[in-house]
Amino acid sequence: MSSKKMIEANSISKHYERKIALSSLSFSINQGETVALIGPSGAGKTTLLNSIAGLILPEQGDIIIDGKSITSYKKGKIFAKKVGVIRQQFDLIGPLAVIHNVLAGKLADWGLLKALFSLLIPQDKAAAIKALERVGLHDKAYEITSTLSGGEQQRVAMARLMVQNPELILADEPVASLDPARADDILAMLTNIVLERKQTIIASLHSVEYARKYFTRIIALKNGELFFDLPSEKVTDELLLDLYQLKGRS
Ligand code: ADP
Repeated sequence: MSSKKMIEANSISKHYERKIALSSLSFSINQGETVALIGPSGAGKTTLLNSIAGLILPEQGDIIIDGKSITSYKKGKIFAKKVGVIRQQFDLIGPLAVIHNVLAGKLADWGLLKALFSLLIPQDKAAAIKALERVGLHDKAYEITSTLSGGEQQRVAMARLMVQNPELILADEPVASLDPARADDILAMLTNIVLERKQTIIASLHSVEYARKYFTRIIALKNGELFFDLPSEKVTDELLLDLYQLKGRS
């Protein structure tokens, strides 16, 4: 892990009508860190990830990505090289062949014309096939994406992310729709790829068990505030009971 800061959140706040989603939140994440984001439903995890993805503008504070304020990035090619997103719903185009979904990772690089052309004749096939091999799906390159299982579709999304090759990966509940065995596979694969490529990842997770197993640092949010920010091995059961307010229940 390097000491280069990949994300700096400086006192960011966001509210929806009367609801506070993020309240004066500050933290920084170095390049190469693997960070799990946990906390009860409504804690602000998705709002935080969407703010770092540049989809939501916090009302206060600033987010610095790789030394530059997020507001100074032009959306498109340069931002796509910095930040990639993977979600619970996979965000794939079901009727397209797997390889075309993987090549969509190149969209920002290519511009619209080449991207549209790639729907007819796959461009840069070698890169896509290599990524599909890495996620164990090279034999499914020409299958229709919607016919694949949930676990396979999330692997297609990972291959697309490999082709995009951003420095920072934001994963919003990446395994929430998968069964436990599949979820374990996907998280092991995702965090291994991130380590191989010296990328940085911040992933929101429902499961504390996965957070501890696959991530070196855990940031916990509650009511839009930082509840704790600790190396995974320092997160005690006591803290987790407090976080999820399970104390005193049988
Ligand atoms: P989490 O991902 O931890 O479940 P969210 O970031 O989705 O939390 O939500 C944080 C808070 O902001 C919640 O109280 C939620 O109800 C509220 N919220 C999130 N998005 C919206 C929205 N689009 N409109 C109104 N309230 C929202």
